[in-house]
Amino acid sequence: MILITGSAGYIGSHCVLALLEKGYEVVGFDNLSVGHIETVEKLKLYGKDKFKFIQGDLLIENDIQKIFSNYKIDAVIHFAAFSLVGESCLNPSKYYRNNVVGTLNLLDKMVENNVLKIVFSSTAATYGEAQYVPIDELHPKKPCNPYGKSKLMIEEIMDDFDKAYNLKSVRLRYFNVAGADEKTRVGEWHTTETHLIPNVLKSALNENKTFNLFGYDYDTKDGTCVRDYINVEDLIEAHILALEYLNKFETTNFFNLGTNEGNSVKEVFDLCEKITGKKINLNIEKRREGDPATLIAKNKKAKEVLGWEPRKTLYDSIKSAWEYEKSRK
Ligand code: UDP
Repeated sequence: MILITGSAGYIGSHCVLALLEKGYEVVGFDNLSVGHIETVEKLKLYGKDKFKFIQGDLLIENDIQKIFSNYKIDAVIHFAAFSLVGESCLNPSKYYRNNVVGTLNLLDKMVENNVLKIVFSSTAATYGEAQYVPIDELHPKKPCNPYGKSKLMIEEIMDDFDKAYNLKSVRLRYFNVAGADEKTRVGEWHTTETHLIPNVLKSALNENKTFNLFGYDYDTKDGTCVRDYINVEDLIEAHILALEYLNKFETTNFFNLGTNEGNSVKEVFDLCEKITGKKINLNIEKRREGDPATLIAKNKKAKEVLGWEPRKTLYDSIKSAWEYEKSRK
């Protein structure tokens, strides 16, 4: 059985569906502070007796022990985390406690229960400001906010746990994750939305809602920030390959997950107008604090070592996100 922490969240819920589709049995774990009970209900509906859910918190050791006492876990895929850069600058304590201490509790319990394989959702934010693009895995790691620092600390803890306790990890450093399940069962749903694509689409759905674009004066092709948008289903495929890699090679490793291509915020906005067929109200705001101008992944290592290949385009991601957004209206 595979344990998925953060199974009620955006990326975790897509992972549960993909694993169930491949015939795995899954235990989901989530404290529902960001994730939604409605998402869990959808997963239960789909997974039937192959999906179990435990509501619990990584900060409560007994909650974690309950999982290992009740189920035979072969490996863990660990998504549960807070992940907003801006919030992490305002409230670093929340991020270090939840992300670092919570993960440490999880790793301790894994070692105690002799579960020694973990796939971890890390981030491009561990690199900080890009010194060159595309960013490969050897790029210096100088995270510039507590969110990125918390994820880098966890990666370092995992290296030490490998040396001391033989715990093997594959760390996947995500660039900008986008899109939704093709059947709209799950998708990107944050109570307070801060991400680009859902925010543009919300403005497309509601003509009274203006989309705020942060910064038109960056040193990029059109003055707006450039990001590498990776489709959520492609991203999850890499997690399953990472799991297989851990089973086969039993070694620790780390990979960037992105497409090798960048799109500007304005390009994303224009494509959203095209896909939705709506004229969206646009307001140019000043830069958002902490936003680097350009982030693009070099994904060669994941392709060569994991045999991973992102297949979906930005168009596919926006289209599926749009279908999901409309289904929630
Ligand atoms: N962005 C924007 N308006 C929004 C949300 C995001 O202009 O309402 C911009 C943001 O400044 C950044 C890009 O879109 O340049 C991607 O932001 P997002 O929060 O989606 O992801 P991040 O790159 O911060 O992980």
